[in-house]
Amino acid sequence: MRKITLDNMAETFDVVIVGGGVSGAGVYEQLVRKGYRVLIIDKGDFASGTSQASGMMVWGGLLYLKNYDFRSVIKFSKSRDELISGINTGVGIRRFRYLPLVQGGRSKHFVHSGLYLYWLMSLVRRNRPYSDGCFPEQNFINKSRFKESLVYEEAGLDLSDSRFVLDRIARYHSIDCCALNYCSLQGASRKDGCWYLSLFDEHSGNDIQVKSKLLINAGGVWAEKIDDLVAIQSPYKHVFSKGVYLAFKRPKNHQDCLVFEMGQHGDSQTFHPWGPVSLWGPTETAIDDLSGGFQATTEDVRFLLGQANQNLSMNYDAGDIVSLRCGIRPLAVKKSYRGNHYPLSLSRKHMVYHAKESSYISIYGGKLTSCEQLGKEVYQYVVKALGLPTRQEPEEINYEYSLDANQAPTPQWSMDNEYCLTLEDFLRRRSNISQWVHRGGMGVADANLGNIEHISKIIEKNNAKAALANYKNKIHQEYDKLLDSV
Ligand SMILES: Cc1cc2nc3c(=O)[nH]c(=O)nc-3n(C[C@H](O)[C@H](O)[C@H](O)COP(=O)(O)OP(=O)(O)OC[C@H]3O[C@@H](n4cnc5c(N)ncnc54)[C@H](O)[C@@H]3O)c2cc1C
Repeated sequence: MRKITLDNMAETFDVVIVGGGVSGAGVYEQLVRKGYRVLIIDKGDFASGTSQASGMMVWGGLLYLKNYDFRSVIKFSKSRDELISGINTGVGIRRFRYLPLVQGGRSKHFVHSGLYLYWLMSLVRRNRPYSDGCFPEQNFINKSRFKESLVYEEAGLDLSDSRFVLDRIARYHSIDCCALNYCSLQGASRKDGCWYLSLFDEHSGNDIQVKSKLLINAGGVWAEKIDDLVAIQSPYKHVFSKGVYLAFKRPKNHQDCLVFEMGQHGDSQTFHPWGPVSLWGPTETAIDDLSGGFQATTEDVRFLLGQANQNLSMNYDAGDIVSLRCGIRPLAVKKSYRGNHYPLSLSRKHMVYHAKESSYISIYGGKLTSCEQLGKEVYQYVVKALGLPTRQEPEEINYEYSLDANQAPTPQWSMDNEYCLTLEDFLRRRSNISQWVHRGGMGVADANLGNIEHISKIIEKNNAKAALANYKNKIHQEYDKLLDSV
């Protein structure tokens, strides 16, 4: 599929989007559907940045209620509910249970009133919140800390965050709307009102030159680097917040997303079911730069294990951890921001900067909930800059699969239909194997290694042995060694 793109793609586009995470994919889908000629590129695989490490929740803006920011609550609730009711959005309703602390937390009635207000602000599109003292998850929560639950509705992704991104990209494919993963922006210059972009195809080692009327930076935590590369000064920057989840085998009776109250300041942790695992987390740690990579540390794991064991009745140890998810949240702030805030108190809203004279748009921040909203907002900027598109909406490719039982995409199908190039692309982002089976899919004591070897042969062909060795080494460094150190 990627070769077809490279052989046939146009040399001139209306828009080139740099960054194929949630934000880039949301914008790509909107612009392609409106009829613009668009190329989206990513230096790695699509969704290989923060967008493969999220909690996969589509929140309606509950966080903003704390600061009485009612406008944002109404806006995010609307976006969430549009995603729930839209066709093929990959988003469904989730039941949440807020668990107030028996002692030392906020008043249960106060929280209940807040959830009621939240529900009213969603214009009662969701079910009314209620108090429930008898629920299946009581079997595995620490009953000395939590007794009752307050039930309310939010939304979550049906399959995974990576699939949410891929679905928005792989659904459209022609000479006018193209997607290239493993293709990085190396440099850019402007002449006669157009961008001349130097791209590097990391897969083949070839340089690619394309021309574009407008350039969009959707580089997530790397957005400032991209601004620098093209010599544009944006009024925004990112503050980074690292977040980690631990995945454990899903306990029997775990149906709803549990939100545990952690103290008086409104901090909470979630434990939510995802296929055969349940995710505990996330952490929220301010970091200064990206030098530590997207890598959980011994401290992160110890901290989360301690919390899980305090609030659940299981008494987990490191050997119970099926997988880890670690990402860095790009939190948008003004460039003049010099604060040193606890990241949870910073806004999760996106900011869009349009440098009109340079036909350049930079996106800072962003969330799953607002990605369609972001796409619509950017579309308005693009119309102002380029005028309305002259082409019709392209045909959607019939792009259907299911991750249920035996109908998960096969490696060959993913290679043919959704830009799958490497073993890890398949294990982590096309399927959930690396997250749902111990040790990146290899299993406890390599019990599943034979299957991984088979997948490697299909995808990596002559390079299968070396690719498998690299993958094993990566899992050894990022999983085995880390958990041994806990
Ligand atoms: C632990 C955790 C939990 C979260 N939970 C939720 C949640 O439940 N709900 C929610 O809505 N949000 C959640 N988030 C936030 C959400 O995941 C992020 O805000 C979102 O994924 C950011 O998407 P993005 O597209 O901006 O960035 P990314 O996904 O990082 O995408 C940016 C892309 O740009 C590419 N790129 C960078 N530089 C270049 C270049 N020079 N050339 C080509 N490509 C380039 C990168 O490779 C990358 O793929 C969570 C985040 C974390 C860390």
